[in-house]
Amino acid sequence: MNQDILHDDWDRRHLWHPYTSTINPLPTYLVDHADRNYIYLADGTRLIDGMSSWWCVIHGYNNPVINEAAKAQIDRMSHIMFGGLTHEPAITLGKMLLGHAPASMHNIFYADSGSVAVEVAMKMAVQYAISRSGNHTKTDFVTIRSGYHGDTWNAMSVCDPVTGMHGAFGPALPVRFFAPQPRSRFNGEWNPEDIAPLEAIVREHHDTLAALILEPVVQGAGGMWFYHPQYLREARRLCNRYGILLIFDEIATGFWRTGRMWACEHAGVKPDIMCIGKGLTAGYLTLSAVMTTRDVADTISNGEAGVLMHGPTYMANPLACAVGIASLRLLDGCDMARRVSHMAAIMERELAPAADLDSVADVRVLGSIGVVQTREPVNVGDFQRKCVRRGVWIRPFGCNVYIMPPYVTPDEDLVYLCRQLIEMLPR
Ligand code: PMP
Repeated sequence: MNQDILHDDWDRRHLWHPYTSTINPLPTYLVDHADRNYIYLADGTRLIDGMSSWWCVIHGYNNPVINEAAKAQIDRMSHIMFGGLTHEPAITLGKMLLGHAPASMHNIFYADSGSVAVEVAMKMAVQYAISRSGNHTKTDFVTIRSGYHGDTWNAMSVCDPVTGMHGAFGPALPVRFFAPQPRSRFNGEWNPEDIAPLEAIVREHHDTLAALILEPVVQGAGGMWFYHPQYLREARRLCNRYGILLIFDEIATGFWRTGRMWACEHAGVKPDIMCIGKGLTAGYLTLSAVMTTRDVADTISNGEAGVLMHGPTYMANPLACAVGIASLRLLDGCDMARRVSHMAAIMERELAPAADLDSVADVRVLGSIGVVQTREPVNVGDFQRKCVRRGVWIRPFGCNVYIMPPYVTPDEDLVYLCRQLIEMLPR
C-alpha cells in the first residue's frame, strides 16, 4: 500500500476534516470511488463499509436507481428557489413522507441538514409558545444527557454537556435543562424510576419550557445507547400534562435503521415535531425535513409573526427531493422489517463473543446498528490504520466501536465486518 497515495499532503495542510486538528490531524484516506457497500481507496484497496457514511448511505454507493433519478432531475432543473415557486419533486416527496410519518404530522418544512432541521424545530417550538399565549418566557428546552442533535448553535446546546461541545464554547451556549440518561435498556425491564428526574424538571420549570427534545430509543453520536420505549410514552404523558411540545430527532434513527421506519414506532408515540435527514437522501445530497402537527403550524401562522421565521436558499432542492423519492421507493419496494431483522440476527450472533473480552464493557444490537462499548477510549487513528489493513471501514468514537452498514451489505461482508471489529479491539 502506497501511503503517499492514501494521504494527500495538500489536504493535510489546508482542508479541515470533522473534529480534526490542523496541527496534528488524524490520517485521512484518499477515496477513488465507492460502489454498493464498498469504498475503493486511491491505491485500489477495497474497504467493506461499516458506517454508511455516518448513517446516510442506506442503499449503498453508486446505486443505479438513485443515479438515474438524479440524472433525470438534473436535466429538468437542479435548483429553483422555493419562495413563491414550487415543484413536483417537493410535492411528491412531501406526500410520500406524510404517508409514512406518524399520523400527527401534517406540515413539512424542508431544510438543508440535520443540524439545521433541529434549529428549525427549536424555532418552531419557541414561535409556537409565543404565538399561543403571547408568553415570551416559555423559550427554553429540556433534554436528556448523552444526546446528540447537531453542530449548530441551538442544536449544540441540547447535546450532552460533557461529551458534546459545551466545553469548547463555555458560557456562549445557552444553558438547557438536562435529565439523566434513561438507564432501562431497550430490551430490558422498565424501571419507573427512570422518568422521575425528567418529571421533576418539567413539573418545576414547565412555565419556561417550549419543548422536550429526544432522539427516540437510540442515542447516536452522544453515546450509542438504546433505551426503553416506555421512556417515550412517559415523556409524551409529561408533555401533554404540562403543556410543552415533544420533538423527536429521527435524523439518525429514521428510514428503518432501528428495525422500524421510525424509532418512535417502537413506543407507539407521536411527536409534535419530528426532524428527519441523513437516510432521507441516501447519502447523495444534503436535505432534511421538519414535520409538525397542524396545530403547531397553524398556531405559528396565527401568531404575532404570522409566519415561521426561516427560509434557506436551498430549501426543497429539487435534485435532493428527486433522490429522496427514489430512495423511499426503494425502501417501499423491499420488506425492510425482514431485511433489518436479518442483519440484526447476524450482528447479534457475530458480535456476542466480544462480550468475553476484558476490555469490553457492553455489546448491544438494535436493528442494523451494532455497538461494542469498550472500557477505555479507543485510539481512532490506530484503529483506522488496522481497519484499512483488514479491508473494513469503521470509525469509533470514545468507547464506542459501532457499525451500521448499508442495507445492501451481503451477509458474508457483515460477518467479516463483525469478526474484524472484534479482532481489532484492545485485548
Ligand atoms: N441529530 C442527530 C440525531 C444526528 O445523529 C445528527 C448527525 N450525526 C444530527 C442531528 C446533525 O445532522 P447533520 O450532521 O446533517 O447536521
